[in-house]
Amino acid sequence: MKPLVIAGNWKSNKTTADALRWLQDFKNHIGSFPSYITVVLCVPFTLLYTVKEKIRVYSLPIVLGAQNVSPFPDGAETGEESARMVRDLADWVIIGHSERRKNFGETDEVLAKKVEQAKGAGLQIIYCVPDDHTRIPYGVDVAAYEPVWAIGSGEADTSANANMVIAAIKAASQVKQVLYGGSVTAANVASFVGEPSIDGVLPGGASLDPEKFADLITNAR
Ligand code: PEP
Repeated sequence: MKPLVIAGNWKSNKTTADALRWLQDFKNHIGSFPSYITVVLCVPFTLLYTVKEKIRVYSLPIVLGAQNVSPFPDGAETGEESARMVRDLADWVIIGHSERRKNFGETDEVLAKKVEQAKGAGLQIIYCVPDDHTRIPYGVDVAAYEPVWAIGSGEADTSANANMVIAAIKAASQVKQVLYGGSVTAANVASFVGEPSIDGVLPGGASLDPEKFADLITNAR
């Protein structure tokens, strides 16, 4: 079996109370799954500590990710979280999500600095790209192909097209694993991970509900 990454992205959602409820429900719904699947849960900075503690207490088979990182090291950068601070709590980080490119003006230059910082701190990076033409900085091991029109729209790409784009991304870069993201659900996940070039998925909306996320993991096996 090829290694699979399932990376849930909570985006800008959930209070501490919401997160605690989610974790309890997820614990009750998730069965055991094979070790070739790595489940990453990418939560807002405000929840990293709480979720990390509960993953430990409940012995949940998931690892923790952040959704952003500063392009600068520790220092006078008000409102930013440096890679060293993120690494203190998380193992993974999403960089270059299309929502950050579009709503926060993050350019390829800024994203390359974020990758450099994250890599230096020992974070595993999921670098999002909307197509097979977007440059992926050196040092990225895992990328995610996320067509902008499919994100949060309920309209996923076809698994055949996603497979083709992902094969092209791999051919044009040094990236070893590429995930698909864009309206992935428990109902369509098997079609994506069944494709030869697709190494996992990045569900946003479907990770917000603990039962749906647990079902999605079950169906990916
Ligand atoms: C995402 O969070 O990157 C994403 C693809 O969201 P959704 O699954 O809701 O489309």
